[in-house]
Amino acid sequence: MSEPTSVLNFVAGEWRSPDSLGTLPVTNPATGAVIAQVPLSTEREVDRAAQAAAQAFPEWRRTPAVERVQYLFRLKRLLERDFEELARTITMENGKTLAEARGEMQRAVENVEVACGIPMLMQGDISEDIAPGIDELMIRQPVGVCTTIAPFNFPGMIPFWFMPYALACGNTYVVKPSERVPLTMWKVMHLMEEAGFPAGVVNLVNGAKDTVNAILDHPIIRAITFVGSTAVARHIYSRGSANGKRVQAQGGAKNPIIILPDADLETTTRIAADSAFGNSGQRCLAASLAITVGEARNPFTEAISAAAASRKVGYGLDAGVEMGPVITPHSKQRIEKLIGAAASEGAEIVVDGRNAVVKGYEKGYFVRPTVISDLPPQGEVARTEIFGPVLGLIHVDTVDEAIALVNSAEYGNMACLFTSSGSAARKFRYEAEAGNIGINIGVAAPMAFFPFSGWKESFFGTLHGQGRHAVEFFTQTKVVIERWPKEWSRKF
Ligand code: NAD
Repeated sequence: MSEPTSVLNFVAGEWRSPDSLGTLPVTNPATGAVIAQVPLSTEREVDRAAQAAAQAFPEWRRTPAVERVQYLFRLKRLLERDFEELARTITMENGKTLAEARGEMQRAVENVEVACGIPMLMQGDISEDIAPGIDELMIRQPVGVCTTIAPFNFPGMIPFWFMPYALACGNTYVVKPSERVPLTMWKVMHLMEEAGFPAGVVNLVNGAKDTVNAILDHPIIRAITFVGSTAVARHIYSRGSANGKRVQAQGGAKNPIIILPDADLETTTRIAADSAFGNSGQRCLAASLAITVGEARNPFTEAISAAAASRKVGYGLDAGVEMGPVITPHSKQRIEKLIGAAASEGAEIVVDGRNAVVKGYEKGYFVRPTVISDLPPQGEVARTEIFGPVLGLIHVDTVDEAIALVNSAEYGNMACLFTSSGSAARKFRYEAEAGNIGINIGVAAPMAFFPFSGWKESFFGTLHGQGRHAVEFFTQTKVVIERWPKEWSRKF
């Protein structure tokens, strides 16, 4: 498959150049080269996709679950067949390294695998004889037309937190990728076509803000899953809910990691550096603040600064590269401005990644790993999601102070503790106010069979993506109370 010059939509089993409000360029952030144009689909185009999904729904929901998952088994084999191509596409449009892109696609495949268990996962409950001869059942039925609105930072993985479960449960689907990285889903959708999903069961609609608002307002669409920044997540949740839809909206983050003096310094530093600088810090589970307790301060500051300074930055497709660029020139500018703001707040820029130029990729949007020490905990920079390879250090005297700091944050996506003390770990696990907790783990990303549990400003909704939560989100329960013929009951 060669790169398209213009990305198409996939609606009712056909590739089409959509009604659009124009196009946007898709850029390789390491080279600055335009690699495609993405259409900004109109309201009419969203309607076309929703109608196609609605038309496909009755037959798809009647297809037995054991048959529906055969399409997913085929999709899994195709994703594995084209694994390298998909990973390279992610690197080209998003900028992360090939190893990171492979990790992302691996998690996508794992979600397909878990969704293949739907025949058992969506079973209902039954109680016999709630009264003599009367039985009560709870069955799970699909919701209807569902959708995912995705962010730029995991173009291959994030739609898979939702879509395989929705389809396996008997729903039909519309996916709207980020307009900055539409190529990966474009390729995935070709594989779904090859897997033989009936026309209209899955649809791809490209676009940006206006396309999203058309989705939020469309009367046919019953459920919305969203991942992106907090401001947009809040908008999606309130507008979607006001329109009577089920909504789960995952937002931004500012993840703290606490380092106790008894943590293993070498391992902690390696893990913390991977968390803060992996994916160029453009990960909702990236460590963004490191809170050192007591004597951990100096050794950790030195070790993490050395790790930051020595990280190899470049084009993710080149061998040996450990970190790629950030997504846009605007993003680079914003990150560098926040680094400057930290200095103005009185923090010390220990390793400064601003004004980075990578030889051979002078037009790329690179920011090198940055370490900022003595960041004022209540300042703007300590409370703002930077979404770049920047780790702020805050130093405190006790573990209680550190946990209080974690819990004072607006976000609650992830919090981690590095220690060799079981009791400190248990206290932290118990008290920390975040939905994903790591103990000596730097990126506490739940496996596909656990929910992706953001809290506070990092999540709007009740049920999360992945695993059983996804099954519940994409099904509605129906309770049936049955009384059967006389001879089956003792009395009436
Ligand atoms: P974004 O909010 O800018 O965009 C996400 C999606 O919303 C895109 O599809 C975009 O087209 C659409 N959109 C953007 N502005 C909109 C508007 N005003 N109205 C309607 N739709 C709009 O997010 P992004 O920059 O693509 O992704 C980065 C953000 O995503 C970060 O904040 C990151 O923390 C967050 N994120 C969160 C998680 C999580 O699990 N909580 C995972 C990944 C990324």
